[in-house]
Amino acid sequence: MTTYDFAIVGAGIAGASLAAELAEGGARVLLLEAEDRPGYHSTGRSAAFWEECYGGPEIVPLTLASGEYLRDNGFLHQRGALYIGRQEDAGALDRFMERFGNTGATIERLHRETLAEKVLGLREDWTEAVWEPACADIDVAGLHAHFLARARKAGVDLECRALVDSLSRKDGHWTIKTAAGGTYKASWVVNAAGAWADSLAQLAGARPLGIGPLRRTVVQLRIDPVVPADQPLVLDISGQFYFKPEAGRLWLSPHDEIPSEPCDAAPEEIDVATAIDRFQQVVDCRIEAVERRWAGLRSFSPDRLPVYGRDPQVEGFAWFAGQGGYGIQTSPAAARLAAQLLLGAGRDAMTEKLDASLYDPARFA
Ligand SMILES: Cc1cc2nc3c(=O)[nH]c(=O)nc-3n(C[C@H](O)[C@H](O)[C@H](O)COP(=O)(O)OP(=O)(O)OC[C@H]3O[C@@H](n4cnc5c(N)ncnc54)[C@H](O)[C@@H]3O)c2cc1C
Repeated sequence: MTTYDFAIVGAGIAGASLAAELAEGGARVLLLEAEDRPGYHSTGRSAAFWEECYGGPEIVPLTLASGEYLRDNGFLHQRGALYIGRQEDAGALDRFMERFGNTGATIERLHRETLAEKVLGLREDWTEAVWEPACADIDVAGLHAHFLARARKAGVDLECRALVDSLSRKDGHWTIKTAAGGTYKASWVVNAAGAWADSLAQLAGARPLGIGPLRRTVVQLRIDPVVPADQPLVLDISGQFYFKPEAGRLWLSPHDEIPSEPCDAAPEEIDVATAIDRFQQVVDCRIEAVERRWAGLRSFSPDRLPVYGRDPQVEGFAWFAGQGGYGIQTSPAAARLAAQLLLGAGRDAMTEKLDASLYDPARFA
């Protein structure tokens, strides 16, 4: 039986990107996925944007470090983003400018005249905004397939329908068993199990870090007038909604964060209704149909920063989890950094400015 250097559990964007990086660094890598195909859970349900400020100042370096790779490989389509508010939100938008002013994100304060030009039918009470021109749509399916293709080319073995349900360690190696009866051996197990990260840690005898899945809902609306294709992503500065055009339709989220068990998340009617109600207070238009609705889980560690690196207590166990609401847009740099940490390799141009201690699992020890 092959003894792999790394067995990565979970083949969403996290596991796929890390598998590619580790294998290209010379490691023998096994990628195990519970579902019939990779990308069924959070990765397949995202709102597909790359937004420089999303997730706070400690996430910005990961997002910016990933930008060039995503752009150069054709995965970004520039759209621009607007954080908007009413008169009483002017202070919050000013504080946003201060908070992100020195992060390297490109942001500019706007007022009603320029704002109204950017959003068709914007109601008059929305007078304040921050403009972020670099924000872009991400081709998520293309990016995920790209990481899987890189991984395959570098020799990674991918096993689907391989729900890991037992981990035991002896003589410096893990024996990994799946519900389907598979048995594998590896020196390292890497936890890229998304919403299931804490459960997987328990299988390995590691202390769960408190990674909690939060449900987020998205609806696709057909509206009249049709939303212009080049309209920006619009986010509420108070975190009540965001929306953007998508192929002649509108994708809208109530920006919900409902605590959930790890599961195949589904949208609740109340969250769909809340999204529509909030949207109607922003844009004057007729909603003709709710064409689609979906939900996914965004999994956060207690400080809402991701967790990359070796477990401080359990030998041979590492984390690549807690990707929260920015696991797609940060994936190139996050995977490069995590692979460098696990392989003991030096930094490169993509990762040299990243502070790995921010994401170290040992911060919760
Ligand atoms: C509605 C929504 C909108 C979002 N919008 C954006 C956005 O615009 N931009 C952005 O960057 N991010 C966005 N995100 C966040 C992004 O989708 C996540 O951060 C990212 O997909 C997490 O990837 P992952 O690989 O960690 O998790 P997942 O894609 O969930 O993958 C984890 C995998 O692990 C597998 N697994 C779990 N346990 C086991 C086990 N025991 N054995 C084998 N396999 C196992 C699961 O089956 C799953 O496939 C959004 C998320 C949601 C829900």
